[in-house]
Amino acid sequence: MGEFDFSAIESKWQKIWERDRSFAIDNHPDPQRPNFYCLEMLPYPSGRLHMGHVRNYTIGDAVARFKAARGFKVLHPMGWVSFGLPAENAAIKKGIHPRIWTEENIAQMKEQLKSLGYSYDWDREIAAHRPDYYRWNQWFFLKMHERGLAYRAHRWVNWCSHCSTVLANEQVEGGVCWRCGNPVTRKSLEQWFLRITEYAQELDGYLPRLTGWSERVRQMQKNWIGRSEGALVKFPISDPPGGEPLEIFTTRLDTIYGATFCVLAPEHPAVERLCAGTPQEAGVRSFVERMRHRDLVHQDAQIGEHKEGVFTGRHAENPYTGKPIPIWVGNFVLMEYGTGAIMAVPGNDERDHDFATQYRLPIIPVVRPADPSTPAPAGKAYTEPGVLIHSGPHDGLTSGEAFEKLLALGEERGFARRMVQFRIRDWGVSRQRYWGTPIPMIHCPHCGVVPVPERDLPVLLPEDVVLSGEGGSPLASSAAFVEVACPRCGRAARRETDTMDTFFDSSWYFYRYTDPRNDAAPFASAAAQQWFPIDQYIGGITHAILHLIYCRFFTKVMRDLGLVALDEPILRLLNQGMVLKDGSAMSKSRGNVVEPDAMVARYGADTCRLFSLFAAPPERDMDWNEQGVEGCHRFLERVWRLSAPLFAPSSEPMPEALSEAETALRRKTHRTILRVTEDLDRRMHFNTAIAAIMELVNELSAFQNEGLETASRRACFREGVEIVVRRLCPFAPHFSEEVWERLGAGGTLARAPWPAPDLKLAEEPLLEVVVQINGKLRGKVIVEKGAPEQEVLELARNDPKVESHLQGRTLIKSIFVPDRLLNLVVRG
Ligand SMILES: [Zn+2]
Ligand SMILES: [Zn+2]
Repeated sequence: MGEFDFSAIESKWQKIWERDRSFAIDNHPDPQRPNFYCLEMLPYPSGRLHMGHVRNYTIGDAVARFKAARGFKVLHPMGWVSFGLPAENAAIKKGIHPRIWTEENIAQMKEQLKSLGYSYDWDREIAAHRPDYYRWNQWFFLKMHERGLAYRAHRWVNWCSHCSTVLANEQVEGGVCWRCGNPVTRKSLEQWFLRITEYAQELDGYLPRLTGWSERVRQMQKNWIGRSEGALVKFPISDPPGGEPLEIFTTRLDTIYGATFCVLAPEHPAVERLCAGTPQEAGVRSFVERMRHRDLVHQDAQIGEHKEGVFTGRHAENPYTGKPIPIWVGNFVLMEYGTGAIMAVPGNDERDHDFATQYRLPIIPVVRPADPSTPAPAGKAYTEPGVLIHSGPHDGLTSGEAFEKLLALGEERGFARRMVQFRIRDWGVSRQRYWGTPIPMIHCPHCGVVPVPERDLPVLLPEDVVLSGEGGSPLASSAAFVEVACPRCGRAARRETDTMDTFFDSSWYFYRYTDPRNDAAPFASAAAQQWFPIDQYIGGITHAILHLIYCRFFTKVMRDLGLVALDEPILRLLNQGMVLKDGSAMSKSRGNVVEPDAMVARYGADTCRLFSLFAAPPERDMDWNEQGVEGCHRFLERVWRLSAPLFAPSSEPMPEALSEAETALRRKTHRTILRVTEDLDRRMHFNTAIAAIMELVNELSAFQNEGLETASRRACFREGVEIVVRRLCPFAPHFSEEVWERLGAGGTLARAPWPAPDLKLAEEPLLEVVVQINGKLRGKVIVEKGAPEQEVLELARNDPKVESHLQGRTLIKSIFVPDRLLNLVVRG
């Protein structure tokens, strides 16, 4: 009957798929098969796959294989986001050229991916570090520059003066440089930015349309974009009057009578001018100087921690009260947010309250709780909206009314206006690194910044750069790269030596898969039109903000360039949970890393795939538990033994008349088809789908024990086994193919259609149970005859309508009439 030799089976089928190009897909529309774009986030080629990858790609592959079997034409590509710091570090440490290191890693990881049997169309593979890809990064950069979306500005960076290099936030460890251990300071550098703020309103406004995304990710994006409505108020300088007034953004104009001081960021351009000539000048200067030396990481960490400040010696006039208030400089105000200046209302803001208490500044509460019987909190700020007090003619107004009235007043007198502000900043894309896309710009002493003409793309990354990890941009050391004739005037000029943030590469890569070999454009619009939006995107929650905001931004820019005709690139997004070992994340330092190669060698790819889908629903974290892996392996062995007696073609037809036991088995078989389809189609709950298949296997096993002597028993049994094998195919494809072949059923399962259930058989003995809440009809559930109350209740709760009536209410009792009715009595 043949042993279950998984490693022979797996390599056999991997070769067949490759030989037959089973997963290659073209762009021609097929009226019989609608398109489906299934995509997993592409890896950085570190050289080895980890279990997190395995889980991510196994989920994607199960979706891709399932959708293909359901009759879709599935695009399922893979590639490499292959520029980045680790390659550069490897070059510094080991003396290997980043390109060689990267290509070797790609080759290794590709083998690993193939050993797991993923159904990728490798003809569409892309890699960001290859010129045929990154030239389109440069092209996009030029297009953005043309539209004013790419520009230069100064920004603070972490700087190690010992290594004379810029450090990423991750390279600052406890305020010191990761390489040399010297304190990190800040430096202002001129860099390239993308004007993502131009699209802030739309990026925020479209979030409610992303109904295929989790609420959690949408909320994270909303917070990151940080839209707030408020007012911009001008505070004139009062001692002596004159000069530019301070501009301050506030969302709480209703509290302006309680503004007892204002605070500027240390980098605020007015600080110097304000403190000049005051007795406080020296103190302010030394404070600002000290703040300049903290690193950026530390600065972010300081928010909410130790607040520090110094009085400038000057006052501004509150335009609403006419009263002077002192101007301070404080470390908790950031130049990057708002106008870099705040009005402090210590009576109604927690942070301002702490600061005022520390420096003995006046505290005047101006908003009290709307309900007069609620006491205002003692010794701290009341921060909620409420009713105004100590606000002159505005006492008694609600916060909302006061905001509008005060705004109207300020607008009329010209010192306030309505303003919407965003927290999101423009995207700094310059990196002082070698292993990235060269920014296609030229600095000419006569013409200024000149774009490289499109016909001269790509600007190739030079090979002859010595990487030491010291100094500024490594590209500056290549004279052959740097020295160039100005495209405008022809005189000697210098190339830009910064390279692009690698998030640039991943912001549009999924369009390239639709047309990966195009050498006249990043992709043909028609090709993108075929496949977009992405039907299912799968990747870690860690990308909820940067990557998943940047790629939305790119799509909007591409739409405005006329390249694509859509507003959002991703229809449905699944963020899989982490893979843990013994309850914690796998890490070298903990010594709990499980290597995919070792697991594949020991148990086979199918077992690893099956376990990573079975252990938990995809959004949740899962624990890599070896007993569970063994359990999945035994399950496959069991299915093998179950099918082995049938390892010969059969032409026995399904007889008309069946015994009760035979009908029951067939019913179970067809219900399993229904349930698995439902679990995959609607919820992507692979774990419950696999559990349903396991249940069917139990029944088949029991049926087999009763004997398979008659033709009708054999026919019913064979039908069940065939369904098990076909249903397992998206999860354990090599195994399923092999058993399918041995069953003599003919053809391969790789792209075979998904069997349809006999609905009549599957549904016949099902009943409808009515669900009432407090006697009112709220839903119906379909169950098997004799289903217990608990099961009915669980199914009822899956119905959003029923659940909405239960939310926030207490269940007092339930009345259950089996096979007929469930009435829930609730309160609240
Ligand atoms: Zn250093
Ligand atoms: Zn020039």
